[in-house]
Amino acid sequence: MSNSRQLNKRLFFGVAVLFCFIVAACGELSSQTVYLNGKTMGTTYHITLPSLTDHTQQELAIIVQQELDAVDQAMSTYKSDSIVSLYNAAQVGQVVAADEATLFVVKQALGFAEDSAGAFNPAIGPLVNLWGFGPSVLADDQIPSEYEIQQALAQSDYRAIVVHHNGLGKTAPVSLDLSAIAKGYGVDVVAEHLLELGITDFMVEVGGELRLQGNSPRGSIWRIGIESPGEAFGIPFEAILISNKAVATSGDYRNYFEADGVRYSHTIDPSSGYPIKHKLASVTVVADTSATADALATAISVMGPERGMEFSRNRALAVFMLVKSDDGFVAQYTQAFEAYLELPDANGVIQ
Ligand code: AMP
Ligand code: MG
Repeated sequence: MSNSRQLNKRLFFGVAVLFCFIVAACGELSSQTVYLNGKTMGTTYHITLPSLTDHTQQELAIIVQQELDAVDQAMSTYKSDSIVSLYNAAQVGQVVAADEATLFVVKQALGFAEDSAGAFNPAIGPLVNLWGFGPSVLADDQIPSEYEIQQALAQSDYRAIVVHHNGLGKTAPVSLDLSAIAKGYGVDVVAEHLLELGITDFMVEVGGELRLQGNSPRGSIWRIGIESPGEAFGIPFEAILISNKAVATSGDYRNYFEADGVRYSHTIDPSSGYPIKHKLASVTVVADTSATADALATAISVMGPERGMEFSRNRALAVFMLVKSDDGFVAQYTQAFEAYLELPDANGVIQ
């Protein structure tokens, strides 16, 4: 086995970076705009508040950091005393006390698992670890054996997770990995808090998952770039105009390693136990909440271009895919996504 295994972690960038790029290019940034940046959940967050009046930047910075850290403390697989880690260490039959937020996210995750026929799997942790994308530290050149994959698959049945009214149990050895929905949930928590404080214009981004409300610093609705997955990483492939919605992107280019010229994605297909291999390079989902967009982007990523598109159309989801072709990437999107695309008008002009 080659030693050329390279971890490529680009999670910190995401669509928000492109947002900044695009808005800066447009100029007209309001001088009142407040930016809150920080670290949480093993990634970064960026919040833009175009017109802050009644609250101080410092006050909001503390609230935001506390809200996001609370989600991390409950749902992290990296913190040994998080609720999720305590659950993962628990025996069959034991009930681990869980707060309302964790119970809510687990219920939502199990709902997405059912609806996606297991493509989204919140019990995928043993396989994520086995492939070197979880908290377990692995030797650099290790590709799991078929036997190890089957062993991990046998411990990845989300139907063994039981949600009680104040805790979580299991009917078979199983663990929780909420990484594909928790960042989105964190975005929602912050967004809801800002709304409660009467703040109506904002962008909240955690690790590339976004929620856009009201107007941007340009004084009109938000303009977001969908990043190019290939060589042109950092250059927007497409722009969307959006407000009062959440946007999430999952892609095989975001977090992967390469061994012997093969790319292994951090998104695992629970039907095989192997990282996804198809031609779908990225999936962008627009939804009302960031947790929903986050989970659906991961689920559709697992399904691949054909099944993912059929799933999205059947549910009238707003989904944009970039599919690898011989000479680059081809965009495919659902009818519901068209409303957000910044398409030229009848005269060929983009406003
Ligand atoms: P995201 O960036 O939202 O697509 O989430 C990716 C993370 O979700 C990975 O790093 C894994 O921890 C976890 N994951 C991988 N495959 C799956 C899956 N099929 N269902 C749910 N979570 C997954
Ligand atoms: Mg996700």
